[in-house]
Amino acid sequence: MQRLILATRNAHKVTELRAILGAAGLAVDLVGADAHPDVPDVKETGVTFAENALLKAHALARATGTPAVADDSGLCVDVLGGAPGIFSARWAGRHGDDQANLDLLLAQLADIDDAHRGAHFACAAALALPDGTERVAEGRLRGTLRHAPAGAGGFGYDPILQPDGESRTCAELTPDEKNAISHRGQAFRALTRELRTLLP
Ligand code: IMP
Repeated sequence: MQRLILATRNAHKVTELRAILGAAGLAVDLVGADAHPDVPDVKETGVTFAENALLKAHALARATGTPAVADDSGLCVDVLGGAPGIFSARWAGRHGDDQANLDLLLAQLADIDDAHRGAHFACAAALALPDGTERVAEGRLRGTLRHAPAGAGGFGYDPILQPDGESRTCAELTPDEKNAISHRGQAFRALTRELRTLLP
């Protein structure tokens, strides 16, 4: 079976993509970057989600000689001109401090009323082959930012984004409900179509 490496050390992301590929009927042996501990993490020097996803996928495909996929994602707030965007994971200064990032964003938006609290999650999913072939697919989940967090599921900014047409935040959706509409789900489902034609 064709092996495919996902550029993440997060087991949850590997399981999630396995489900998406399985649902699409694509038979690949998906493994995380932990299967290649010798390959160093790449610096995310790109200025768009797509650039960063491609950087990660190419680095892994080149180093391992195996097709690789990667994603990059974040929250883009209308009234902040698209920020935090690519800085979503380190908005409050320290990489991956979800609570501090969310608290800072809520404080910044404290005086903004509901009519102007539009935002979206964005995700770019990239595929790279060892020969340099590349594909990118993007997805978006549009919604409104709450004034206070709600829900215990998900991660990051999930407790404050209420998707359009929903009365719950992303953190109140089940994982399956979120995957069905999420930016990441959309991007990887689109990339699956490319995988089907490009993988040997
Ligand atoms: P990364 O693409 O895993 O580096 O994620 C970047 C950051 O964007 C995360 O740390 C979160 O703060 C935010 N983010 C991306 N996707 C989501 C999501 O589905 N829910 C909540 N926050 C997200």
